[in-house]
Amino acid sequence: MRLKDQVAIVTGGSRGIGRGIVKAFAAEGAKVAFIYKGNQAAADSLVAEVAQAGGIAKAFQCDVTNFDDAEKVVEAIEKDLGLVNILLNNAGVIRDGLFVGMKLEEWNTVIQTNLGGVFNFCHAVAMKLARQRKGRIINISSVAADNSNPGQTNYAASKGAVNSFTRALAVELAGRGVTVNAIAPGFIETDMTENVRNKAGDLIKKMIPMKRLGQAEDIAKVAVFLASADSGYITGQIIKVDGGLSLGAVAM
Ligand code: NDP
Repeated sequence: MRLKDQVAIVTGGSRGIGRGIVKAFAAEGAKVAFIYKGNQAAADSLVAEVAQAGGIAKAFQCDVTNFDDAEKVVEAIEKDLGLVNILLNNAGVIRDGLFVGMKLEEWNTVIQTNLGGVFNFCHAVAMKLARQRKGRIINISSVAADNSNPGQTNYAASKGAVNSFTRALAVELAGRGVTVNAIAPGFIETDMTENVRNKAGDLIKKMIPMKRLGQAEDIAKVAVFLASADSGYITGQIIKVDGGLSLGAVAM
Protein backbone atom coordinates (compact mmCIF):
# COMPACT_ATOMS: atom_id res chain seq x y z
CA MET A 1 0.00 0.00 0.00
CA ARG A 2 1.64 3.19 -1.20
CA LEU A 3 -0.23 5.66 1.04
CA LYS A 4 -0.59 3.62 4.21
CA ASP A 5 -1.77 5.74 7.19
CA GLN A 6 -1.34 9.01 5.27
CA VAL A 7 -4.07 11.58 5.88
CA ALA A 8 -5.32 13.04 2.62
CA ILE A 9 -7.76 15.86 1.83
CA VAL A 10 -9.47 15.73 -1.56
CA THR A 11 -11.64 18.72 -2.50
CA GLY A 12 -14.58 18.04 -4.78
CA GLY A 13 -14.33 14.39 -3.85
CA SER A 14 -17.97 13.40 -4.05
CA ARG A 15 -18.28 13.04 -7.83
CA GLY A 16 -16.30 12.60 -11.04
CA ILE A 17 -12.50 12.75 -10.99
CA GLY A 18 -12.35 13.53 -7.27
CA ARG A 19 -14.47 10.50 -6.45
CA GLY A 20 -12.05 8.29 -8.41
CA ILE A 21 -9.14 9.82 -6.51
CA VAL A 22 -10.80 9.29 -3.10
CA LYS A 23 -11.33 5.60 -3.91
CA ALA A 24 -7.78 5.16 -5.20
CA PHE A 25 -6.20 6.91 -2.19
CA ALA A 26 -8.29 4.82 0.24
CA ALA A 27 -7.40 1.62 -1.62
CA GLU A 28 -3.73 2.54 -1.09
CA GLY A 29 -4.28 2.79 2.67
CA ALA A 30 -4.80 6.54 3.12
CA LYS A 31 -7.34 7.98 5.55
CA VAL A 32 -9.24 10.27 3.21
CA ALA A 33 -11.25 13.36 4.10
CA PHE A 34 -13.12 14.61 1.08
CA ILE A 35 -14.87 17.94 0.60
CA TYR A 36 -18.15 18.38 -1.22
CA LYS A 37 -20.33 21.42 -1.76
CA GLY A 38 -23.93 20.26 -1.72
CA ASN A 39 -24.55 16.81 -3.12
CA GLN A 40 -24.98 14.97 0.17
CA ALA A 41 -26.36 11.82 -1.48
CA ALA A 42 -23.26 11.44 -3.64
CA ALA A 43 -21.03 12.06 -0.60
CA ASP A 44 -22.87 9.49 1.54
CA SER A 45 -22.73 6.85 -1.18
CA LEU A 46 -18.97 7.34 -1.56
CA VAL A 47 -18.37 6.96 2.19
CA ALA A 48 -20.33 3.69 2.08
CA GLU A 49 -18.57 2.46 -1.09
CA VAL A 50 -15.11 3.04 0.38
CA ALA A 51 -16.07 1.40 3.70
CA GLN A 52 -17.44 -1.60 1.79
CA ALA A 53 -14.06 -1.93 0.09
CA GLY A 54 -12.32 -1.88 3.49
CA GLY A 55 -11.03 1.70 3.33
CA ILE A 56 -11.53 4.92 5.27
CA ALA A 57 -13.19 7.98 3.73
CA LYS A 58 -15.05 10.73 5.56
CA ALA A 59 -17.19 13.45 3.99
CA PHE A 60 -16.93 17.13 4.98
CA GLN A 61 -19.28 19.76 3.58
CA CYS A 62 -17.50 23.01 2.71
CA ASP A 63 -17.62 25.56 -0.09
CA VAL A 64 -14.00 25.86 -1.25
CA THR A 65 -14.53 29.52 -2.17
CA ASN A 66 -14.82 30.44 1.52
CA PHE A 67 -11.41 31.21 3.07
CA ASP A 68 -12.50 30.94 6.72
CA ASP A 69 -14.50 27.76 6.17
CA ALA A 70 -11.51 26.11 4.47
CA GLU A 71 -9.41 26.81 7.54
CA LYS A 72 -12.12 25.52 9.87
CA VAL A 73 -12.71 22.32 7.93
CA VAL A 74 -8.98 21.52 7.84
CA GLU A 75 -8.89 21.91 11.64
CA ALA A 76 -11.91 19.60 11.96
CA ILE A 77 -10.28 17.02 9.67
CA GLU A 78 -7.05 17.06 11.70
CA LYS A 79 -9.00 16.58 14.93
CA ASP A 80 -10.77 13.61 13.40
CA LEU A 81 -8.06 11.88 11.35
CA GLY A 82 -4.71 13.36 12.46
CA LEU A 83 -2.12 15.61 10.79
CA VAL A 84 -2.72 16.16 7.10
CA ASN A 85 -0.01 14.81 4.77
CA ILE A 86 -1.58 15.16 1.31
CA LEU A 87 -3.77 17.91 -0.17
CA LEU A 88 -5.41 17.30 -3.52
CA ASN A 89 -7.26 20.33 -4.90
CA ASN A 90 -9.79 19.01 -7.38
CA ALA A 91 -13.02 21.02 -6.86
CA GLY A 92 -13.83 22.88 -10.04
CA VAL A 93 -16.67 24.22 -12.15
CA ILE A 94 -17.37 25.44 -15.67
CA ARG A 95 -19.63 28.32 -16.72
CA ASP A 96 -19.01 28.26 -20.47
CA GLY A 97 -20.09 31.06 -22.76
CA LEU A 98 -18.55 33.30 -25.40
CA PHE A 99 -16.66 36.18 -23.83
CA VAL A 100 -18.74 39.02 -25.24
CA GLY A 101 -21.79 37.63 -23.48
CA MET A 102 -20.09 36.42 -20.33
CA LYS A 103 -21.68 37.62 -17.12
CA LEU A 104 -19.54 38.87 -14.25
CA GLU A 105 -21.07 36.16 -12.06
CA GLU A 106 -19.89 33.46 -14.51
CA TRP A 107 -16.37 34.87 -14.44
CA ASN A 108 -16.28 35.23 -10.66
CA THR A 109 -17.71 31.78 -9.90
CA VAL A 110 -15.12 30.02 -12.05
CA ILE A 111 -12.16 32.05 -10.80
CA GLN A 112 -13.24 31.87 -7.16
CA THR A 113 -13.81 28.11 -7.28
CA ASN A 114 -11.02 26.87 -9.54
CA LEU A 115 -8.31 29.29 -8.42
CA GLY A 116 -9.65 30.72 -5.15
CA GLY A 117 -10.38 27.22 -3.85
CA VAL A 118 -6.80 26.15 -4.53
CA PHE A 119 -5.51 29.25 -2.72
CA ASN A 120 -7.82 28.74 0.27
CA PHE A 121 -6.94 25.10 0.87
CA CYS A 122 -3.21 25.53 0.17
CA HIS A 123 -3.21 28.44 2.61
CA ALA A 124 -4.91 26.30 5.26
CA VAL A 125 -2.49 23.39 4.82
CA ALA A 126 0.90 24.66 3.55
CA MET A 127 2.32 25.73 6.93
CA LYS A 128 1.22 22.44 8.49
CA LEU A 129 3.08 20.46 5.81
CA ALA A 130 6.12 22.71 6.02
CA ARG A 131 6.30 22.13 9.79
CA GLN A 132 6.24 18.36 9.20
CA ARG A 133 8.99 18.87 6.59
CA LYS A 134 7.18 16.59 4.20
CA GLY A 135 3.97 16.56 2.27
CA ARG A 136 2.27 16.55 -1.07
CA ILE A 137 0.10 19.15 -2.77
CA ILE A 138 -1.54 18.14 -6.05
CA ASN A 139 -3.74 20.51 -8.03
CA ILE A 140 -6.10 19.43 -10.78
CA SER A 141 -5.61 21.78 -13.71
CA SER A 142 -6.71 21.14 -17.31
CA VAL A 143 -5.26 20.95 -20.80
CA ALA A 144 -7.62 23.90 -21.43
CA ALA A 145 -4.97 26.09 -19.78
CA ASP A 146 -2.86 25.74 -22.94
CA ASN A 147 -5.30 24.54 -25.59
CA SER A 148 -8.14 27.01 -25.84
CA ASN A 149 -11.75 26.14 -26.54
CA PRO A 150 -14.31 28.81 -27.49
CA GLY A 151 -16.46 29.85 -24.54
CA GLN A 152 -13.86 29.12 -21.88
CA THR A 153 -11.99 32.37 -21.22
CA ASN A 154 -12.94 32.13 -17.55
CA TYR A 155 -12.04 28.43 -17.25
CA ALA A 156 -8.78 28.71 -19.24
CA ALA A 157 -7.71 31.73 -17.16
CA SER A 158 -8.43 29.87 -13.91
CA LYS A 159 -6.47 26.77 -14.95
CA GLY A 160 -3.56 28.75 -16.43
CA ALA A 161 -3.33 30.53 -13.10
CA VAL A 162 -3.42 27.19 -11.25
CA ASN A 163 -0.40 26.08 -13.31
CA SER A 164 1.56 29.25 -12.49
CA PHE A 165 0.53 29.03 -8.83
CA THR A 166 1.67 25.39 -8.72
CA ARG A 167 5.15 26.24 -10.01
CA ALA A 168 5.53 29.26 -7.73
CA LEU A 169 4.41 27.42 -4.58
CA ALA A 170 6.66 24.48 -5.50
CA VAL A 171 9.67 26.78 -5.39
CA GLU A 172 8.68 28.10 -1.96
CA LEU A 173 8.04 24.71 -0.36
CA ALA A 174 10.74 22.57 -1.99
CA GLY A 175 13.25 23.24 0.77
CA ARG A 176 10.71 21.98 3.31
CA GLY A 177 10.28 18.60 1.67
CA VAL A 178 6.84 19.47 0.33
CA THR A 179 6.22 18.85 -3.37
CA VAL A 180 3.61 20.75 -5.37
CA ASN A 181 2.49 19.40 -8.72
CA ALA A 182 -0.53 19.54 -10.99
CA ILE A 183 -2.33 17.09 -13.21
CA ALA A 184 -3.87 18.49 -16.40
CA PRO A 185 -6.60 16.09 -17.54
CA GLY A 186 -7.86 16.02 -21.09
CA PHE A 187 -11.46 15.04 -21.75
CA ILE A 188 -12.78 12.89 -18.90
CA GLU A 189 -16.17 11.22 -18.68
CA THR A 190 -17.85 12.99 -15.73
CA ASP A 191 -20.96 15.07 -15.00
CA MET A 192 -18.99 18.17 -16.00
CA THR A 193 -18.57 16.99 -19.59
CA GLU A 194 -22.02 15.44 -20.02
CA ASN A 195 -23.48 18.22 -22.20
CA VAL A 196 -20.48 18.37 -24.52
CA ARG A 197 -20.36 14.58 -24.76
CA ASN A 198 -24.02 14.47 -25.72
CA LYS A 199 -23.45 17.07 -28.44
CA ALA A 200 -20.05 16.05 -29.80
CA GLY A 201 -18.86 12.84 -28.13
CA ASP A 202 -17.86 11.06 -31.36
CA LEU A 203 -15.99 14.06 -32.72
CA ILE A 204 -14.09 14.41 -29.45
CA LYS A 205 -13.07 10.74 -29.56
CA LYS A 206 -11.68 11.31 -33.06
CA MET A 207 -9.59 14.24 -31.77
CA ILE A 208 -7.98 12.05 -29.09
CA PRO A 209 -5.09 10.02 -30.54
CA MET A 210 -5.92 7.14 -28.14
CA LYS A 211 -9.52 7.21 -29.46
CA ARG A 212 -11.24 7.02 -26.11
CA LEU A 213 -12.45 9.45 -23.47
CA GLY A 214 -10.54 9.45 -20.21
CA GLN A 215 -11.96 7.94 -17.03
CA ALA A 216 -11.58 9.19 -13.46
CA GLU A 217 -9.32 6.17 -12.81
CA ASP A 218 -6.84 7.42 -15.46
CA ILE A 219 -6.35 10.57 -13.40
CA ALA A 220 -6.49 8.78 -10.04
CA LYS A 221 -3.56 6.52 -10.92
CA VAL A 222 -1.33 9.53 -11.57
CA ALA A 223 -2.61 11.22 -8.41
CA VAL A 224 -1.59 8.16 -6.36
CA PHE A 225 1.89 8.30 -7.87
CA LEU A 226 2.25 12.03 -7.14
CA ALA A 227 0.96 11.51 -3.59
CA SER A 228 3.34 8.62 -2.92
CA ALA A 229 7.01 8.46 -1.95
CA ASP A 230 7.78 7.34 -5.52
CA SER A 231 7.43 10.92 -6.81
CA GLY A 232 9.76 12.40 -4.19
CA TYR A 233 12.08 14.20 -6.66
CA ILE A 234 9.30 15.74 -8.79
CA THR A 235 8.00 19.21 -8.01
CA GLY A 236 6.49 22.15 -9.86
CA GLN A 237 5.38 19.98 -12.78
CA ILE A 238 2.14 20.02 -14.73
CA ILE A 239 1.48 16.48 -15.96
CA LYS A 240 -0.93 16.13 -18.88
CA VAL A 241 -3.11 13.02 -18.74
CA ASP A 242 -5.14 13.28 -21.93
CA GLY A 243 -4.63 10.32 -24.26
CA GLY A 244 -2.56 12.61 -26.49
CA LEU A 245 -5.33 15.21 -26.99
CA SER A 246 -3.00 18.17 -26.43
CA LEU A 247 -0.59 16.95 -29.13
CA GLY A 248 -2.93 18.65 -31.59
CA ALA A 249 -2.92 15.84 -34.18
CA VAL A 250 -5.35 16.16 -37.08
CA ALA A 251 -8.54 14.14 -36.36
CA MET A 252 -8.71 11.03 -38.62
P1 NDP B 1 -17.73 17.20 -11.54
O1 NDP B 1 -18.64 18.31 -11.93
O2 NDP B 1 -18.05 15.82 -11.99
O3 NDP B 1 -17.52 17.18 -9.95
C1 NDP B 1 -17.18 18.39 -9.31
C2 NDP B 1 -16.89 18.14 -7.84
O4 NDP B 1 -16.45 19.39 -7.27
C3 NDP B 1 -18.10 17.69 -7.04
O5 NDP B 1 -17.63 16.82 -6.04
C4 NDP B 1 -18.62 18.99 -6.41
O6 NDP B 1 -19.32 18.81 -5.18
C5 NDP B 1 -17.30 19.72 -6.17
N1 NDP B 1 -17.43 21.18 -6.07
C6 NDP B 1 -17.78 22.04 -7.05
N2 NDP B 1 -17.78 23.30 -6.59
C7 NDP B 1 -17.43 23.23 -5.28
C8 NDP B 1 -17.27 24.19 -4.24
N3 NDP B 1 -17.46 25.50 -4.45
N4 NDP B 1 -16.90 23.74 -3.02
C9 NDP B 1 -16.70 22.42 -2.79
N5 NDP B 1 -16.82 21.47 -3.73
C10 NDP B 1 -17.19 21.87 -4.96
O7 NDP B 1 -16.28 17.64 -12.11
P2 NDP B 1 -15.07 16.77 -12.70
O8 NDP B 1 -14.85 15.58 -11.88
O9 NDP B 1 -15.28 16.63 -14.15
O10 NDP B 1 -13.88 17.80 -12.51
C11 NDP B 1 -13.00 17.77 -11.40
C12 NDP B 1 -11.82 18.68 -11.66
O11 NDP B 1 -11.15 18.26 -12.85
C13 NDP B 1 -12.19 20.14 -11.88
O12 NDP B 1 -11.22 20.97 -11.30
C14 NDP B 1 -12.17 20.26 -13.39
O13 NDP B 1 -11.94 21.58 -13.80
C15 NDP B 1 -11.02 19.34 -13.74
N6 NDP B 1 -11.03 18.86 -15.10
C16 NDP B 1 -12.06 18.08 -15.57
C17 NDP B 1 -12.03 17.60 -16.86
C18 NDP B 1 -13.10 16.74 -17.44
O14 NDP B 1 -13.02 16.42 -18.65
N7 NDP B 1 -14.07 16.28 -16.67
C19 NDP B 1 -10.93 17.96 -17.79
C20 NDP B 1 -9.91 18.78 -17.19
C21 NDP B 1 -9.97 19.19 -15.89
P3 NDP B 1 -20.92 18.45 -5.15
O15 NDP B 1 -21.00 16.97 -5.49
O16 NDP B 1 -21.35 18.72 -3.76
O17 NDP B 1 -21.57 19.31 -6.17
